Amino acid sequence: MSSQSTGLRHWRQRFNALFQDHEIFIRTHGHVRFLRISAVWQKRVALIAGAVLLAWAAITLAVFVNQLLTADERAEVAQKQAAAAAAEQRIARYRDRVGEIAADLDERQKQLEQWQQDYFGNEALPAPAKAAGDAKGDGAAATPLKTSAIDPRLPPEAQALARIEARQEAFSSRLLAAVNARAAKAESAVAKLGLDPRALVRDASSGRGGPLIPFQRRGGNAGALGTSFAALEGALFRMEVFERTLVAIPSGQPAHVLMLSSSYGYRSDPFTGAGAMHAGLDFPGPIGTPILAAAPGRVSFVGQKSGYGNVVEVDHGQGILTRYAHLSGFNAKVGDRVTAGQQIARMGSTGRSTGSHLHFEVRLNGVAVNPRRFLEAKADVLEVKDDARQRVGALASAGAR
Ligand SMILES: [Zn+2]
Repeated sequence: MSSQSTGLRHWRQRFNALFQDHEIFIRTHGHVRFLRISAVWQKRVALIAGAVLLAWAAITLAVFVNQLLTADERAEVAQKQAAAAAAEQRIARYRDRVGEIAADLDERQKQLEQWQQDYFGNEALPAPAKAAGDAKGDGAAATPLKTSAIDPRLPPEAQALARIEARQEAFSSRLLAAVNARAAKAESAVAKLGLDPRALVRDASSGRGGPLIPFQRRGGNAGALGTSFAALEGALFRMEVFERTLVAIPSGQPAHVLMLSSSYGYRSDPFTGAGAMHAGLDFPGPIGTPILAAAPGRVSFVGQKSGYGNVVEVDHGQGILTRYAHLSGFNAKVGDRVTAGQQIARMGSTGRSTGSHLHFEVRLNGVAVNPRRFLEAKADVLEVKDDARQRVGALASAGAR
């Protein structure tokens, strides 16, 4: 009690000491008056002044605080706006990406459907070897997403796209398996005909071996596409080469007469008697016997050649050409598209010929080969060839050159 109250009393004493009664003398026109200012009145004035000062300070402070607060609020609003703008930007970016991904998926889907239609028509793709059990439902959903195109942290729409992409990848794998199986079949048939499948693919990729492969490689963003998609392109190319080669194989009878099966190879020349290479097979028969294209193709020559007499040549693509010689007449002109078995000429004895017969040659990349292996192709090879012809024929009638 003592120290606090003494302190307070001390301050009151000091405060009171500031205010003492004052008397001010004022002389006006010889009159002297005096003004008395009491200590109490001084204190009152001082207190009122202090109160006014305090009030002013309080108001100023309030205004200041208020300003601070609104500034704060404004900053907060601005912050919120900035955040909203940023979020919008993010969404816009994402939306762009979704559009991009969707467009890519769409393009791929079209390409896959085109391939399936071109190479398999309405034929059902074989079920995938693995996970055959849930092939009906979402076997694809079980397939882990291989592509890095979609961030798994993206919103639901992107996740939906990722699932579609995974399913597409699975479909692409199935198509790949089907294409590989078919390419293998065609490859073995080609090999049975005595042709080298590897050389055929090599020649086709280098642009040799015939002009007629309409298969188009996709340029541009192929790298961004799935792995099986890229493999699919390679497999389709191989299949295309083998199947087109099979179709081009001249296995059809060039005339419905018996061939002199021993006529290919070295023999004595009927004119000089000296040993000479006979590069074709001879088919003796009556003059005018219809001469038939041994495979589908385009007539590339009609006219005379030294020694051969009247000649028709048919280009079958894939570097395969057939030559029909000693003809008595023509039933086709250069540029004609002919089917297997279509009449192109008539049998005769023009050129270096001892009697009416057909001289039939098969040339592979310009080199004569024995036609017998094609004419005597086994049923299993012909079956594969027939499948290939149906597909390639469908492709050709769809507008391929
Ligand atoms: Zn001959």
